[in-house]
Amino acid sequence: MKKTQTKKAKREYVYRGKSRLEHYKAGAFVVRCLDSRFWKIAKRFIKSLGLKHIDPAFPAGGSKVFSSPFDEHETEHYLGQIAKSIGLHHTERVMLFSHHDCGAYGGFVHFGNDPAKELEFHRGEHRKAVAAIKKRFPRLKVETYFIDPDGIIETTS
Ligand SMILES: [Zn+2]
Repeated sequence: MKKTQTKKAKREYVYRGKSRLEHYKAGAFVVRCLDSRFWKIAKRFIKSLGLKHIDPAFPAGGSKVFSSPFDEHETEHYLGQIAKSIGLHHTERVMLFSHHDCGAYGGFVHFGNDPAKELEFHRGEHRKAVAAIKKRFPRLKVETYFIDPDGIIETTS
């Protein structure tokens, strides 16, 4: 009995390392697809902009949660995550990503393997996503990006 109590009080780490405890202002709230193939380049891009302390969300389809959600709760859930990021980390900027060959949209084959058709579709999705976020947070800066095998295209403008 006594032995169990001692063991309970003791922390047994499976991995050791220090975490920084100071609070921060988020450089951006970033939404990207859980598909990791295109994440490395997005990470490098964000870093190249000098943004620090990203608040990330990795739902399937990325920006899709705001334009063509899988169910009626999904958009509301991620709008809530943005609200938390603003409340906790004073976030002023949202960066939405979607990508080439996204399984959440049925893959590249869904667009007949036509890169122009795929990009045009994502531009439309991004316009819808921006509108959904702006409706709730009119002052928030919302940017949208499409990642293809050769780089990142800004679709906001
Ligand atoms: Zn995807």
